[in-house]
Amino acid sequence: MTSLTSIKNIGFIGLGIMGQSMAGHLLAAGYQVNLYNRTKSKTDSLVAKGAKWFDTPGEVAAHSNMIITMVGFPSDVEEVYFGEKGIIASANNAILVDMTTSSPSLARKIAVQAAKKGLASLDAPVSGGDIGARDAKLTIMVGGDKAVFDHVLPILQKLGTSIILQGDVGMGQHTKMCNQIVIASTIMGVAEGLSYAKKVGLDPAVVLQSIGGGAASGFQLNVLGARMIVGDYAPGFYVEHFIKDLKIAVEEAEQMQLNLPGLLLAKSLFEKMADRGLQRNGTQGIFQIYLD
Ligand code: NAP
Repeated sequence: MTSLTSIKNIGFIGLGIMGQSMAGHLLAAGYQVNLYNRTKSKTDSLVAKGAKWFDTPGEVAAHSNMIITMVGFPSDVEEVYFGEKGIIASANNAILVDMTTSSPSLARKIAVQAAKKGLASLDAPVSGGDIGARDAKLTIMVGGDKAVFDHVLPILQKLGTSIILQGDVGMGQHTKMCNQIVIASTIMGVAEGLSYAKKVGLDPAVVLQSIGGGAASGFQLNVLGARMIVGDYAPGFYVEHFIKDLKIAVEEAEQMQLNLPGLLLAKSLFEKMADRGLQRNGTQGIFQIYLD
């Protein structure tokens, strides 16, 4: 098992919408941050602030006491952990923390392969969106060993404000699925309420002033609803990533013979967006389906 030595060098792999802000907070907190991303240019601004670029995930891993991954899809997670120049092959006495939204089974696979090399791992997906990442106010849902969780908690606290160990490896990802299941039906409700407002001749922006302060309030309505009203469909959170999450949630629910009709409907509507080539919209782009 990884000995829980003081963490000074943090590897960060996946510097997209979320990862760029998150790695920036760690750098600002005084850690040496080692970077790798598929598109190198996305690391330029962090390197200019003192982060160090490495040519492969493995090289990042070899130079880091803790390695955080924030890539896109489970296939990307597989590649950075298990690829020839990947993390597992090169990490040495490090704690591996996958913050990508990925499958619980893949979290368990990482834990098994890591343990064979004496490495500890946690799954720690997040919620709070691009704004939560920017403001270091993420909700972080963790699965894994409590001693390892306690050891990395001060670092996770640089990224988020609600950080809870939910259980053993995989339970962080299961908790994130609960989050995505709630969001799936909520964002449909927001799009439906606002399309009703439009159709009946109300001003949706003024409607939002009323209902955004009532029992329906929340990130989906107040932030994403506001973007729907002005037709701002830039990502935030990519539709293609949400479809990935909904598929994982549907698969897990089917295995448990749990019927979740709202989840299935949301999956079909977001897949409709992808069929129209809108998979790189933010999730608020679902409003377009209702404007037809
Ligand atoms: P993103 O902007 O696509 O960032 C992912 C980054 O990972 C990209 O920069 C990508 O490289 C890099 N990457 C992918 N595969 C790689 C590989 N094999 N090797 C090296 N780098 C690789 O996505 P994001 O919005 O930051 O989301 C990241 C994860 O967090 C996703 O799983 C998403 O579901 C989850 N999440 C997102 C939000 C949100 O609001 N955005 C909220 C909560 C959770 P390229 O630059 O070459 O594409």
